[in-house]
Amino acid sequence: MTQTKLESKAFSVLKDKIQLIKTNEGAIYLVGPIRLPVNLYGETVVFQWYCWLNCAEVTEDYERIIEKLSSVNLAEFQQSSVLVYGDFEQADDALIRMHSICHTGDIFGSKRCDCGFQLKQSMQMIVEHGTGALFYLANHEGRGIGLFSKAMAYVLQENGYDTVEANESLGFVDDSRNYGDAIQVLKALRVKPVTLITNNPKKLEALKNSGMHVSGRTSLWGDVSEFNERYLQTKIKRSGHLKDEETYPND
Ligand SMILES: [Zn+2]
Repeated sequence: MTQTKLESKAFSVLKDKIQLIKTNEGAIYLVGPIRLPVNLYGETVVFQWYCWLNCAEVTEDYERIIEKLSSVNLAEFQQSSVLVYGDFEQADDALIRMHSICHTGDIFGSKRCDCGFQLKQSMQMIVEHGTGALFYLANHEGRGIGLFSKAMAYVLQENGYDTVEANESLGFVDDSRNYGDAIQVLKALRVKPVTLITNNPKKLEALKNSGMHVSGRTSLWGDVSEFNERYLQTKIKRSGHLKDEETYPND
């Protein structure tokens, strides 16, 4: 593997923007904050963006880590990131969203699920609240089965399987998503209480079990259409999602 020598000037810029977070498996290297103006429903909103990399090697010699980047082909893997809004470290309460990547919903705007809607809506909720963070979890595609397997699952769904049945018949457990890394990053950015935007009790449990102070949950339903009604019903009936009567009138 070829390694390029990092320019000392570039390193002096980068070194103060990197944090090492030690984990059971190794390390998370967190880079940021980076100013990120975002087009949110036609308005420009400025978030602070952080991205992180999981690595087996644990070192505070960041020069070593940076020098490896050009040879490890990171584009073949996905990295997760977080958009932070407001005074995230100090504000009394902050809204948190743990968003699982959804190539079809977030990028293409697919109406087979409600992910794209939830992504934008939770960003908007965070901005309206004044402080918060949206974690975008890159290894969560298709509830952790990956994009190609998700395509297979969609083929099965077009032939009468529900979301859970499709994943299980491909040999996957229904939901293999892990929130450990995101929670570690959250703890590095904030120790004060958070309110979680979710309908999913597993996410709430994961956060509470981590020792993070969770002051509550706020739900997020919407964008129900003929295309995703069955998907949403399956979330409620099969995956234990909590339903709020006033915002989800069906069933
Ligand atoms: Zn989706």
